[in-house]
Amino acid sequence: MDVEEFRIRGKEMVDYICTYMNTLKTRRVTPSVEPGYLRTTLPAEAPIHPEPWDDVMSDVETKIMPGVTHWQHPRFHAYFPAGNGYPSILGDMLSAGIGCIGFSWAASPACTELEIIMLDWMGKAIGLPPAFLALEEGSKGGGVIQGSASECVLVCMLAARAVGIKRLKHQFPTVDEGLLLSKLIAYCSKEAHSGVEKAAMISFVKLRILQTDENGCLRGQTLKEAMEEDEEAGLVPFFVSTTLGTTSCCSFDNLPEIGPIVRKFSRVWLHVDAAYAGNAFLCPEHKCHLAGIEYADSFNTNPNKLMLTAFDCSLLWVTNRYLLTSALVVDPLYLQHCYDHTAIDYRHWGIPLSRRFRSLKLWFMLRSYGISGLQKYIRRHCELAKYFEKLVKKDERFEVCNQVKLGLVCFRLVGGPEETPQQVDDLNKKLLTNVNASGKLHMVPASVRDQFVIRFCVVSQHASREDIEVAWDIITDFATELIEGPDKERDLNEERARKHRAALAHKRSFFVRMVSDPKIYNPAINKTPPPQPTSPGTPPQPAPATPDTPSDADSIRLVPSTPKQSSWISWPLAFFFQSVDNDANDLPLRFRHLDTMVRLKSPHPGRRGSTPGASPERRAPSPAPH
Ligand code: PLP
Repeated sequence: MDVEEFRIRGKEMVDYICTYMNTLKTRRVTPSVEPGYLRTTLPAEAPIHPEPWDDVMSDVETKIMPGVTHWQHPRFHAYFPAGNGYPSILGDMLSAGIGCIGFSWAASPACTELEIIMLDWMGKAIGLPPAFLALEEGSKGGGVIQGSASECVLVCMLAARAVGIKRLKHQFPTVDEGLLLSKLIAYCSKEAHSGVEKAAMISFVKLRILQTDENGCLRGQTLKEAMEEDEEAGLVPFFVSTTLGTTSCCSFDNLPEIGPIVRKFSRVWLHVDAAYAGNAFLCPEHKCHLAGIEYADSFNTNPNKLMLTAFDCSLLWVTNRYLLTSALVVDPLYLQHCYDHTAIDYRHWGIPLSRRFRSLKLWFMLRSYGISGLQKYIRRHCELAKYFEKLVKKDERFEVCNQVKLGLVCFRLVGGPEETPQQVDDLNKKLLTNVNASGKLHMVPASVRDQFVIRFCVVSQHASREDIEVAWDIITDFATELIEGPDKERDLNEERARKHRAALAHKRSFFVRMVSDPKIYNPAINKTPPPQPTSPGTPPQPAPATPDTPSDADSIRLVPSTPKQSSWISWPLAFFFQSVDNDANDLPLRFRHLDTMVRLKSPHPGRRGSTPGASPERRAPSPAPH
């Protein structure tokens, strides 16, 4: 494609996108395809010879679109919103067109400088303290755009880990870093996003997952008890990840309580994940949720969730950028430049070296909408959720299961007085499955207070009251059908169609689960008891002290005791050791965080860390397939 053809095709593409957006309503919100559908329609090999662009675009419509879940569809109410504001699409287009890679200031000065300024603009607009802003006099802080909230949490955990290891190394200079690492423990609540657990896995550290109060909020006292208990047991708390606006029910951890507790422990890093809710702090009426932010070391939010900005755009701020960069810096000669002591080089702020010009889309959004335009959108989003909540509350067959503070409503059928909790869960699973299978509306489940609930999120940018009413009509129609049974007069054809829907629903529910955050729907994660000290879930014991490390190694406690609190300690590496150690007798086992059956190998008798059936994961009750 040469520049003249690009000029034409580019305009056609914009037309295609506009038509797509204007006609979205006419499409099914979710595709009715099965895994592998595309393989049957595309060739097995890449074409040797160039193909006409018209053929490519025709395949987009006939082959790709049938397999697309339409996140911008007015009947899409799953997950959280995925922004696609037009100015941000144009920003991404320009970024791809310029095609620069801004890993250092010198690699493309405007790319770095616009990012610094945008992060300061946004930080001020949502109400972060000046310590988070790069251009504030005397500040050591600053912000950066990462690819995802998960990356934000990971890089902060890596920075905190470096701080923790350095501190321990100072105390115990002759102890091996590996042993020091085995002492570090991080904290989050059971409502935290599973990205925190993944970060702990990658960082090779323990993570203690704490109970919340009845509103899904992590309280200071719970954290305090856990941290004290762990210190007592010889562990070293180093990182606390809190959430403002949790994925399952949009609950808010109690930062004003947690902050002072964290401060009492030396050099524990406090992170605040506000991936979705953070954008709402643009509105003065939601800034109250930021109370306690002055205690935090880092904060992240995703404008690609509630600020209409196209993915990817995750903003991370830290109060001490040197702690972040010193954990991530590697500096080969070919990347150095003469301004690297005075300019920010974002390659030291994250995992990838190469980075796109993502700040362009943020700049375009902020200028095109203005803060007032974004506030208007956020307010309508929250108001529509309140409207949906009202509709649910008016129907006595249903109940609302969360505190509706932003755009997410968790609700469920109450069930009959004679029904057991399991039966009510099953009823709600069936309702959700039937609704999703119809392709008329799309929602995902969550576990709230150990109950299966349905999440209804306001997603579409232009959602109206009418859209909410249509959604509620669809939900209540399916509920009526479920509760009252099939209409006696329905003809055979309809009955057959219903069965076909149910079969599809069953298959589709698997697909839905796969694309969901596993923590949203897997109650086993929340119910699993704490691990026992001798289980294979216990991290491998440190090697015996080598001749040059006797005194220090002896002076720190090697074996953590069992936590008394009912909370979960994640020792992800146990899985790896288990599967490496053992190679006979496959045992079916439910992997805690994937809602699929995986097979881990059964133990060789007598091998380390491989007692059959003793791991916390094996003791976890497997939720019934749904
Ligand atoms: N944190 C919270 C509170 C979330 O709701 C989500 C996703 O919805 C994430 C983190 C993960 O976001 P990402 O996909 O950007 O990693």
